[in-house]
Amino acid sequence: MSNTIQVKDKRFAVSISEAEIRAEVKRVADEINRDYAGQNPIFLAVLNGSFIFAADLLREVTLPCEISFVRLASYQGVSTTGEIREIMGLSTDITGRPVIIVEDIVDTGLTMAHMLETLKPHNPSSIDICTLLLKPGKLQVDLDVRYCCKQIPDDFVVGYGLDYDGFGRNTKDIYTLI
Ligand code: 5GP
Repeated sequence: MSNTIQVKDKRFAVSISEAEIRAEVKRVADEINRDYAGQNPIFLAVLNGSFIFAADLLREVTLPCEISFVRLASYQGVSTTGEIREIMGLSTDITGRPVIIVEDIVDTGLTMAHMLETLKPHNPSSIDICTLLLKPGKLQVDLDVRYCCKQIPDDFVVGYGLDYDGFGRNTKDIYTLI
């Protein structure tokens, strides 16, 4: 493992090792296995950043479950903020189902808050958020994050699915901007 990497014009230093990630993912999967015992949750993994986390998490989940990959699409529309975001790819009926959102990182929390609002009209029986990383110092909304592998400082990170300008997703460790 290299201690620093270059992604495009920026340099990053390793901050969370592959071994630590694996242990935290297992810990969170065990919590889900315990909390959802007897249920068949549907995991909604938010693309692109969560694809590696979702793959590792699901292999530690021992419940009968489904997974669907969704994307939050932004487009300019007629709204006061000028931006409307909607969920693309929600092909499975989640009515009456327990939903677990799988996210790469919660920063301001606005993305997850919006996603919760968008999913509620589909009437799932419950919705929980499961994130790989959380920056508590950046949260701008009151968000209940039930499952979190690791809390991190307010720095920019890449690797293990997370990108900088499209690059840097393909590492086993997580790196912080230096
Ligand atoms: P939020 O709506 O919580 O502010 O933003 C969440 C999204 O911002 C994440 O899904 C991710 O795409 C992006 N993001 C926030 N912080 C980071 C970071 O440190 N590194 C990377 N690669 N993406 C981040």
